[in-house]
Amino acid sequence: MSIETGAAATHCPYCAFQCGMTLSVGVGGDVAISADPEFPVNRGALCVKGWTAAAALNHPERLTEPLVRDADGTLRPASWDEALDRVVQAVQRTQQQHGNDAVAIFGGGSLTNEKSFLLGKFARVALRTANIDYNGRFCMSSAAAASIRSLGIDRGLPFPVEDIAGAQAILLMGDNPAETMPPMMQYFDQQRANGGRLIVADPRLTPTAQWADLHLRLMPGIDSVLANGLLHILIRDGMIDAAYLAERTEGFDRVRAAVATYWPERVERITGVAEAELIRAAHLLGTAATAMILTGRGAEQQSQGVSNVSACINLALALGLPGRPNSGYGCITGQGNGQGGREHGQKADQLPGYRRIDDPAARRHVAEVWGVDESSLPGPGRSAYELLDSLGQEGGVRALLVMGSNVAVSAPHLGNISGRLASLDFLAVSDFFLSETAALADVVLPSAQWAEEEGTMTNLEGRVIHRRKACDSPSGVMDDVAVICELARRLGSGPRFEYGSVEEIFTGLGRASAGGPANYSGITYAKIDAGDGVFWPCPDQAHPGTPRMFTDGFPTASGRARMFPVHHQEPAETPDDDFPLFLTTGRNLSQYQSGNQTRRIAELAEISPEPVAEIHPSTAGRYGLRDGQGVRLSTRRGRAEFRLKVTRGIREDTVFVPFHWGGRQAANRLTNPALDPISRMPEFKVCAVRVESLPTAGIERDDAESISTTTT
Ligand code: SF4
Repeated sequence: MSIETGAAATHCPYCAFQCGMTLSVGVGGDVAISADPEFPVNRGALCVKGWTAAAALNHPERLTEPLVRDADGTLRPASWDEALDRVVQAVQRTQQQHGNDAVAIFGGGSLTNEKSFLLGKFARVALRTANIDYNGRFCMSSAAAASIRSLGIDRGLPFPVEDIAGAQAILLMGDNPAETMPPMMQYFDQQRANGGRLIVADPRLTPTAQWADLHLRLMPGIDSVLANGLLHILIRDGMIDAAYLAERTEGFDRVRAAVATYWPERVERITGVAEAELIRAAHLLGTAATAMILTGRGAEQQSQGVSNVSACINLALALGLPGRPNSGYGCITGQGNGQGGREHGQKADQLPGYRRIDDPAARRHVAEVWGVDESSLPGPGRSAYELLDSLGQEGGVRALLVMGSNVAVSAPHLGNISGRLASLDFLAVSDFFLSETAALADVVLPSAQWAEEEGTMTNLEGRVIHRRKACDSPSGVMDDVAVICELARRLGSGPRFEYGSVEEIFTGLGRASAGGPANYSGITYAKIDAGDGVFWPCPDQAHPGTPRMFTDGFPTASGRARMFPVHHQEPAETPDDDFPLFLTTGRNLSQYQSGNQTRRIAELAEISPEPVAEIHPSTAGRYGLRDGQGVRLSTRRGRAEFRLKVTRGIREDTVFVPFHWGGRQAANRLTNPALDPISRMPEFKVCAVRVESLPTAGIERDDAESISTTTT
């Protein structure tokens, strides 16, 4: 591994908190990580994932040469020339036989802004396919859709994270930052020290819920009922901000009518949250001078995800919070570049700058920046699950390029998606490890990791930050930017993908975003480096960026926020005689997303060597199950095996499993792909499940056995 010595200030490869860290490269290539005390987001803190991130760089399982699948079914090493030729031939063959849309791209929310932009441009300009989407559709899409329709824009936190410390009351709906982004807890700690109160709504007694002043242990899939119920109490008890509603919103009358039937006794009956707790929560919010409503995947990853978030936004608007100091509605974005990744064109319905691909003005603007005719740009394509569900189908996608995603672990209803992946004519995967998805590919392209490449990321606050290159890639590896540009050249679109540097791609991204909702046109690398990043929107060079949004109005046609009445509907699947419990899924402290990196790091594997299913003691007793034994969970879609943890931290009617593992221990063998009608978000967070004792003590860990771990 060729690595120059030195140190670089950069950011963690994992979650959207994007902690600042310094990477020091010593003689011999050893990489050491230290937390950056100056970066104002993490302020010197890292979680265990960040501290150990360097272990993935020189891991023995790192891919360092392209692989191609031979006729006998085996993957063998190949030259880059052969691998890229195979991709190009497959694209051309597929498009000649089945049309342009038969080739698709599946991107990821961990890719830099530059890669997200380039991937969207590659799909529309080089491939001329409508079919590009990404794994962020499985993460923040419900909050994004609800924010756009109500607030006119989607920026996860429309205020800096430091504002949390000054909020007198916070309602956290379905988020668990104490495990998923622990450095964030310093702000909740400060909030408490300032006399603030934290309310957590979650079916589990998570570490964050344990930290809270009030835990509302609601039933899975029922978040909008809770939010409507809280708004009902606030209206009843005269705690809403009538002046704000009159001046800054529209649609409140219909919302008031909708929540009129959500009286506390009824909400208690539906959600399982006691009336007294509902009233206490509403009054904590209603009497606070500053307050926040924050949502996470718990409320969002449902077939009612947009409704859930809309009900939370209604609550925030009724309290007059958005645009006020230390107050507002926000979504706590999960993936490293979950924010930037959803702004620059790798979504099926989107062009750079968070523009809609079906907006004629947006198409004209972006086509001009790209130097193509507007009529050549495809229209909206299939959303993530719909794209994957079409693989190998008549009229569907026949050839797929995956970059920055591990869909063989992260997609819902894996039994179906595994079959679809196998039915493809051609699959190419760019990754730095042989992920579960890469192992199925016809061509595997070994890619650079975060510390080996330059680019920008946009954190959960909408702060655009600089990911600096700290070390060289292993020989034989090519970064994704170079791969995309080289594929474009071989496909005949080379002149439109000639960039002298990654910074030049960012400049192109800025021009494409000019005038759009996520306007980066005034951001430069120099401006980012001169401070601690730049908050978008930043429309021109002289503009300082926008840390706090909505202070003067909302970017809607009327300048007012729009309130939408929410009428609760049941989850797509509820328990019955055959599948008598709820299943909900989530993350744990030491693993990240599909676990492709973190499952390989010894310190992290030691903390969480395998996925553990959580069940309440009385439920375990009812089924004759004991702590530590193996269980099989079954849903209408599949089965998976887990070690059992008996805990009072889960509702009696619910089983929890983490989703970071593949193979027989993949939680997504069980999950329901029912989609939200607006965001197309699958219902990861709720379905009906049956739990049974495994006949033997052994749990087959087919995926885990194929992975070796290494230490930092
Ligand atoms: Fe920070 Fe998130 Fe990385 Fe942990 S995983 S160190 S919270 S960026």
